[in-house]
Amino acid sequence: MIRLFDSVRGEVRNLTLRRAGHVSMYVCGPTVDNLPHIGHGRFSLVWDVARRWFTFEGLSVHYVMNVTDVDDKIIARARAESRSETDVVRQYEGEWWDAMERLGVAAPDDTPHATDYIGDMVELIASFLERDVAYVTSDGVYFDVSSVPDYGLLAGQPLASLRAGARVEGNDEKRSPLDFALWKNAKPDEPSWPAPFGQGRPGWHTECVVMSLDLLGEGFDLHCGGLDLKFPHHENERAQAVAAHKAFARHWDHNGWVMVGEEKMSKSLGNFTSLTDLLERTDPRAYRLLVLRSHYRSPIEVTESTVADAERALARLDALARRFELPALGGHTYELASAHHWEDASLELFERVVAAMNDDLNTPLAVGDLFDAVSLANASADAGHETAARRLARSVNVLFGAMGLSLLAGRHVVDRDSQKLVDDRDAARLAKNWAEADRLREELVQRGWVVEDGATGTVIRRP
Ligand SMILES: [Zn+2]
Repeated sequence: MIRLFDSVRGEVRNLTLRRAGHVSMYVCGPTVDNLPHIGHGRFSLVWDVARRWFTFEGLSVHYVMNVTDVDDKIIARARAESRSETDVVRQYEGEWWDAMERLGVAAPDDTPHATDYIGDMVELIASFLERDVAYVTSDGVYFDVSSVPDYGLLAGQPLASLRAGARVEGNDEKRSPLDFALWKNAKPDEPSWPAPFGQGRPGWHTECVVMSLDLLGEGFDLHCGGLDLKFPHHENERAQAVAAHKAFARHWDHNGWVMVGEEKMSKSLGNFTSLTDLLERTDPRAYRLLVLRSHYRSPIEVTESTVADAERALARLDALARRFELPALGGHTYELASAHHWEDASLELFERVVAAMNDDLNTPLAVGDLFDAVSLANASADAGHETAARRLARSVNVLFGAMGLSLLAGRHVVDRDSQKLVDDRDAARLAKNWAEADRLREELVQRGWVVEDGATGTVIRRP
């Protein structure tokens, strides 16, 4: 039985499924107006690990993550850079999937886009107006939160105390500062769609309700996202589902902040540190290991030193893969351990790791056990217990694979000749000798490297 924290009850409880053996899972995805930041990388990794673990435990998972492709920030960027919204979306959605692939995050089963669901959103908003749970103002349509008796369930506060703490805005037409925009009336040169209540575009909180219910159905199992989305975004999603008389998510769960220095990373703070930068400068697997070493609900610190520490730990795992000639598992292919791996498994390690993971995805405990097993496997092999050592090493490989972390025997070993080619190519690029830089790139490719231009120069890796 898998146990998972429930953000509504504030405690860990059994993940009881709508249909035995099947997990339906919705994760709030990115607004594609900018390069993905490190916080995006964390939530993607956390829920990728959860999904992979559920699958490893024999459940079939339907994983949906949306893409917000109409939003104030997309419009603002398009305007500032004199380009179309479509162009902005195309660029940053491309950057998003590129970063996900490098992180080894398995592609969702469905990736609904807000603009593909405008008709359904218009219908839902019209039904709210009909039933008086929404109202029209001069700038759009708003949801009346007082129409939902248990509004504040996710915030963990009743409506009255939320209202007392709410920031008062300039909009006098809103009945309560907590009421939120369902529809924003069209402004000149902004993307807009027709609706019976006026040309315009949807507010952010409506898309996830419509898309999750359409793709996963009523009473789906698990709704996840970053802690910054718990209130008001998830509260407002839930309020709309309640108002529409639809059974919504059975279980809510949220991952913790990313700290860069002292500040938390979030959409609203704007202190983006690009994930693309991190992925260029380090082995992408290091970020997954860094994420795994903390509990998903705890804050993590992503600094040069914590990343470097994860890279050193990764080097120990790759060394294990070399010593025992382990095959690469996990990674992009979303490959799972097959039965013959289990036969070889070191049972005790499996039991400990499975128990830790099934208890609210306790990855730090599991990873601690796995690193102890790495030491033990090496010590056993040193002492001549080759069979036991090999069994343990294979188990480590399978269990890390189940969390999406591949142990790579060939990684990190940059031979001296390749390093010289990299240095020569950087020198050629600095001297703007492009022909020579291209020739050196070709030579590296011939040697089996993938060559990339990073912020600090040529970066090579094995495909
Ligand atoms: Zn959402």
